[in-house]
Amino acid sequence: MISFNEAFKKVLARAKILDTEKLPTDEALGYILAEDIKAKCNIPPFNKSSMDGYAVRCRDLVHIPVRLKCIDIISAGQICKKTVGKGECVRIMTGSPLPKGTDSVVMVEHTKKNKNGRVEILKNIKQGENISLRGENVRKGKIVLKKGTPIRAPEVSVISALGAIKVKVYRKPTAAIINTGNEIIEPGNDLIKGKIYNSNGPMLSSLLKKMNVQVAYRGIVGDEEKKLKKAIVEEMKNDILLVSGGVSVGDYDLVPSILNLCGVKKIFHTVKIKPGKPVFFGIKGRKIIFGIPGNPVSAYLIFLVMIKPAIEKMMGMTPGLNIKSGILKIDFRQHPGRKHFVPAFVIDNKNQISVLPISDYRGSADIGSLSKANAFMIVNENKSFLKKNSIVKLLLW
Ligand code: AMP
Ligand code: MG
Repeated sequence: MISFNEAFKKVLARAKILDTEKLPTDEALGYILAEDIKAKCNIPPFNKSSMDGYAVRCRDLVHIPVRLKCIDIISAGQICKKTVGKGECVRIMTGSPLPKGTDSVVMVEHTKKNKNGRVEILKNIKQGENISLRGENVRKGKIVLKKGTPIRAPEVSVISALGAIKVKVYRKPTAAIINTGNEIIEPGNDLIKGKIYNSNGPMLSSLLKKMNVQVAYRGIVGDEEKKLKKAIVEEMKNDILLVSGGVSVGDYDLVPSILNLCGVKKIFHTVKIKPGKPVFFGIKGRKIIFGIPGNPVSAYLIFLVMIKPAIEKMMGMTPGLNIKSGILKIDFRQHPGRKHFVPAFVIDNKNQISVLPISDYRGSADIGSLSKANAFMIVNENKSFLKKNSIVKLLLW
């Protein structure tokens, strides 16, 4: 049985970055840039006023107040055809190009308009005040965004400000969800004796959707070899296949052998972790396949520590686990043997994270405890006792 660290490395080594696509910029949020963005123009493209006011020659403002002759009025988008001379000014709006001859803008609040068309300037200003210089925000020819940058709203803004309507990004994967188990029924139906509701299906689907992964929800397929094989073969068209349940050593745990029949190459099966030990990981070409243990805590853990990083890698992101340290607030005992991920409630008090393992946690089927937690406390395999106030590792959700 391999260690968690080995398994994690193997997953990342086999999850391959996907091909690229061109998307309209306003649909690229959450994607990763697959090209360097070089500035094709300056931002701003010309020296512009950043205020509503009067464009002036700073040297005319030595004695305040001073009266200037307003020779033109320009709104944003217009260009002033005149050259401003001594004792003159131009009424200007935010975003307008600075008229020839001027070097500063006086805010309208610091002026007074006289009846004779003259403008009284009431306040002195520094040269260059209220002006954005050409290229001061983005310089033409420079690389503004590097390949591999996550696209947020500011990146959409920058790319658009440089005039592009499309952007090259890494494609997002598609993922199929198959839930095995003759005892599982979909939520929304009456609960029949001996059955339980499918919680893994919707949980995995919601986690995938949060990552903007396109989900092919196959849902429940029983524990029958023929049906399971058909579903697996059909869903193999996706980049990722998630099969929950049926991966351990029970009589109806058919998933690993059926995956083998379907041409999936096993990379590992069982990892020294608790919960989630029976996890299966395989590949077929560039596609990746996870066999996820059916218990809900296991399924959630496997998603966080293996499936999510794999998807991040495929989407062009830098994959990783959000591991932090915290202070354990109670004594903690356990059976050593496997790396243990314990549902815990953590409180972040700015300079210190307090960690409380969920007190009545009853193992990998305990969905109630899971919903009380907001992190996994990670306990190394050789530890049987952790003293109150010791420092522990955490995987924040
Ligand atoms: P298995 O991994 O198939 O051995 O299942 C382990 C446990 O998880 C069993 O108690 C199953 O009933 C339960 N289980 C399996 N699949 C699901 C599911 N989709 N939703 C909720 N529980 C499940
Ligand atoms: Mg089962």
